[in-house]
Amino acid sequence: MSGLFIGPWYIDEAFTKRHPSSAARLIDRTSRARYSALMVKAVFPGSFDPPTFGHLNIIERARGIFEELHVIVAVNRQKSGLFSPEERLALLKELLSPYPDITVHLCDRLIVEFARDLGCKVLIRGVRSVPDFSYEFELSIMNKGLDPGIETIFLPTDPRYFVLRSSAIKELASFRGDLSGMVPKNVAAALRSRFGEEAKSK
Ligand code: ADP
Repeated sequence: MSGLFIGPWYIDEAFTKRHPSSAARLIDRTSRARYSALMVKAVFPGSFDPPTFGHLNIIERARGIFEELHVIVAVNRQKSGLFSPEERLALLKELLSPYPDITVHLCDRLIVEFARDLGCKVLIRGVRSVPDFSYEFELSIMNKGLDPGIETIFLPTDPRYFVLRSSAIKELASFRGDLSGMVPKNVAAALRSRFGEEAKSK
């Protein structure tokens, strides 16, 4: 006969028949403890140069799944962005300040190590297209090799945002294109002032 051990109790058919409410309570408590131990915290790393409505949509949806979300600005010292990592951090902090369950960090070491130190077992990545998926898939295999205890979860883009890409938005901003519908107001203002400064210095 199959059953399961929960602490000192062995829950099988006979136990369930004799103590139906205790069996239900024990099983429910165990599955909830298991669920919260596994699903509480997640990290969402990226360059966010700059943050877009595509990123914010992934963040919003991840909030609906995880109790705690850590958004991480990954510093790449080999690649200089349009905005410094500190500027990206400030933009995200401003955008995410209404949410007590979200913390924004800067990280200039391995994301999996950072996630592990935060006690996060899930790494979230957004996917817009098949080329995105193939890149993200390889990255997830590499991260799995670095820390098998951390799982990558892919969230497909919302169709409203699937063309949004930080690189294309920077290009559009450099030609003074209309950015509404692509980035939040603070990001649009930062882009306008960055390209305004560049034009003045030429
Ligand atoms: P990275 O440089 O690490 O790829 P990005 O800042 O470009 O970081 O993006 C961070 C994450 O957000 C990536 O997983 C990326 O695929 C995802 N992402 C970016 N834009 C969108 C979007 N429009 N829809 C869904 N996911 C997106």
